[in-house]
Amino acid sequence: MRKPHLGLEEKTALGTQKFLSRYTTIDYLFGEFIRDLDLTEIFKGKKLRRIDKNVACIYIGSHLLTPIHELLHAGANKLLGYENQKIVIGNLDGGFLWEKIIPGVTAENLPLWKGGYVLCHKSSPSLTDIVIPGLAPYIMTPIGIYLLLEGKRRKCIPMIIAGCGFVAYHADAVFGDIMKAGGDIVIGAADYCCRIAGHPMNMNENGLKYILAIPGVFVGLALWRYSYHYFRRAVNYIREKAHGIDSTLPT
Ligand SMILES: [Zn+2]
Repeated sequence: MRKPHLGLEEKTALGTQKFLSRYTTIDYLFGEFIRDLDLTEIFKGKKLRRIDKNVACIYIGSHLLTPIHELLHAGANKLLGYENQKIVIGNLDGGFLWEKIIPGVTAENLPLWKGGYVLCHKSSPSLTDIVIPGLAPYIMTPIGIYLLLEGKRRKCIPMIIAGCGFVAYHADAVFGDIMKAGGDIVIGAADYCCRIAGHPMNMNENGLKYILAIPGVFVGLALWRYSYHYFRRAVNYIREKAHGIDSTLPT
C-alpha cells in the first residue's frame, strides 16, 4: 500500500512530535516551549530556509532584549536596597550602543552565550535578597508567550521576534538564573534546617555546596517547567477571554 503524501507542514509537525514522544522527559520539561518556538509553519519556502528564519527570529529577539533582562535584575537589587556595582551588556548584544543610551550601563566583550550580567555586592544576604533579583526578569515570560502566540496567529513578525526574545530568555535561564535559584533555595533550606536543629553549618565547607547542587538542579528544572506551564495557561486563559481563542487548538 502506498503511503499517503504528506505536505511539508505535516512532515515537520510529525517530526517534532516523533522526537518529543520518543524522549518523554524532554517533552514533559520542554515540549510546550519547543512547540511555541516552532515557527516553521509561519514562513513560506523551502524547509531549510524556514528553519533559518525560525532561528533568526529567536536569535534577534533574545539579543535585542538583553538590556530589559539585565535592567530587571538591577532594578530588583535596587528595590531591595542594594547598590549595583556594574550593569554590563555584551558588545555582541549591542552593548557599545546601549551604554550611550542607558545611564549606568557598561559595554564589555562577552562570549556569545552571555548577553550581560549585573555585579552587586551583598554581604550576608537573605535567601530572598538572592532569589528575587535572580528571578525578576522572568516576569517578562508571560508577556513573551502572549506576544509569540498572538504573533503566530496574526502572522506578525515584530510581535513574533519580541515574543521569541522573552520566551528564549526563559530557556536561557535553565542554565543560568533558575538553576542558580534552585541551588540557592536548597542551600538556604538546608542552612535553615541545620540552624533550627541547633547544628549550624557553613554550607561552603566540606564540599556541602557541591553535594546540594544536585538536588538544586532538580529544583531548578521543576521551577522552570512549572513556571512556563502556568504562565502559558494564564496567557491562554486571557487569550480565550479577550480574543475568544480556543487554546486547545495548535497555535
Ligand atoms: Zn539573567
